[in-house]
Amino acid sequence: MKLLKTLTCSFLALAFLAAPLTGFSAEEKKKAKPYKLDTCLVSDEKLDSMGKPYVFTYKDQEIKLCCKGCLKAFNKEPEKFLKKLAETPKAK
Ligand SMILES: [Zn+2]
Repeated sequence: MKLLKTLTCSFLALAFLAAPLTGFSAEEKKKAKPYKLDTCLVSDEKLDSMGKPYVFTYKDQEIKLCCKGCLKAFNKEPEKFLKKLAETPKAK
């Protein structure tokens, strides 16, 4: 009985140790889709109208906003803005 318990423990420990490692490598391989617009996804302002654009990755999509203030609006309804991005034709 003691052996079984030891085996179970080491198996659990192994799974526990391996899980974050496999998760990490999967994350590394994933490449974000590039942001195709030159305007802020939230405010529709030119990305450089407020200085340096705020760039981040949501899920596997690169997002660019004109300023950090727009991030709040994005975080409120990320799915809405992702849908908007998908429906917006490529900028000229
Ligand atoms: Zn903004």
